[in-house]
This record gives sequence, structure tokens and C-alpha cells, in this order.
Amino acid sequence: MKAIEEKSKGEQGVNLSTAEIIVSVGRGIGSKENVKYAEDLANALGAALGGSRPVTAELGWLPEDRQIGLSGNKVKPKLYIALGISGQPQHLAGIKDAKIIVAVNKDKNAPIVENADYTIVGDAIEFCKIMTEKVKNK
Ligand SMILES: Cc1cc2nc3c(=O)[nH]c(=O)nc-3n(C[C@H](O)[C@H](O)[C@H](O)COP(=O)(O)OP(=O)(O)OC[C@H]3O[C@@H](n4cnc5c(N)ncnc54)[C@H](O)[C@@H]3O)c2cc1C
Repeated sequence: MKAIEEKSKGEQGVNLSTAEIIVSVGRGIGSKENVKYAEDLANALGAALGGSRPVTAELGWLPEDRQIGLSGNKVKPKLYIALGISGQPQHLAGIKDAKIIVAVNKDKNAPIVENADYTIVGDAIEFCKIMTEKVKNK
């Protein structure tokens, strides 16, 4: 059988409110073009793709309905991967029911670090590339 269309699960196929895994993008991802690295990771994991308010409502790197936080979706995944998200209270309000929070941030003093179960201090895009390959090869 031949695949004629590959749908982006990260963007459309997985519901944020019921997702077991969420890959979430913050301003630290750098640009709309870079969001595709997070989307690749979300697709490899079968995860939903979400984002902070700047990325969704302000910069338009993701649709507005993907916003997570006080004025967006409240989520309760088993695993929440926060890529380049600083962890302001308005964002944390949407993820307080997440079981495991993994933060990927260049700044080891970012507020999200105190709220995360695991932190990778480093570049969000490099993390996405490495993890996507690892998950695909599993
Ligand atoms: C009434 C009100 C309601 C709000 N509701 C919401 C809401 O629902 N949801 C929400 O998210 N926000 C909400 N906000 C906004 C909130 O206060 C923050 O401004 C917002 O969450 C910050 O988004 P951010 O973490 O993506 O960006 P920033 O705060 O700019 O953080 C970017 C982070 O990326 C890191 N970074 C930079 N480059 C890299 C890299 N290459 N790799 C890894 N890390 C990197 C930086 O160290 C930084 O920690 C609300 C604000 C108000 C006033």
C-alpha cells in the first residue's frame, strides 16, 4: 500500500485536553520555521502540539486554539515537554495537573526549572532533532 498523504498528528490529530503527551513550544524556539522541529518530535511521540501565549496568540507560530495556560487550554498529560518556555505563572496555571514536566531551556535559572521534574539545559532545536531520531529508531 502506498501512503498518499501524511497528516501532521502534532498539529491536528491529537486533542490537547485528552493528550497523554504534549510537546509545547515557547518563544525560545526562535521562529515559526523552527516550530517544525517540535512538530516532528510530537509526531514521533504521538503527542499533541501546544504552545505559550506569545507563540499562539501574539506571534502566530501556532493556531490560537493551541494556547496552554491561564487564558488557554488546561491540560493533564502524563508527560509535558516544555521547549523554550520560561514558566511564567500564567503558563504554569495550565499545566499544574501534568504528571511529569520536562523543561528544555537555555537558562538554568528560568522559572520553569523549579516546576519541572527534569530539566535539560540547552538548545530546544538540538533537543528536538536528537530526540526525534532516537524515538524514530526505537
Ligand atoms: C492576563 C494574562 C494571561 C496570560 N495567559 C497566558 C496563557 O494562557 N499562557 C501563556 O503561556 N502565557 C500567558 N500569559 C503570558 C505570560 O505572562 C508569559 O508572557 C508567557 O507565558 C511567556 O511565554 P514564553 O515562555 O514562551 O516566552 P518567554 O517568557 O520569552 O521565554 C522564552 C524562554 O525561552 C528560553 N530560550 C531562549 N532561546 C532558547 C533556545 N534556543 N533553546 C531553549 N530555550 C531557549 C529563554 O531562556 C526563556 O526562558 C498571560 C499573561 C497575562 C497578563
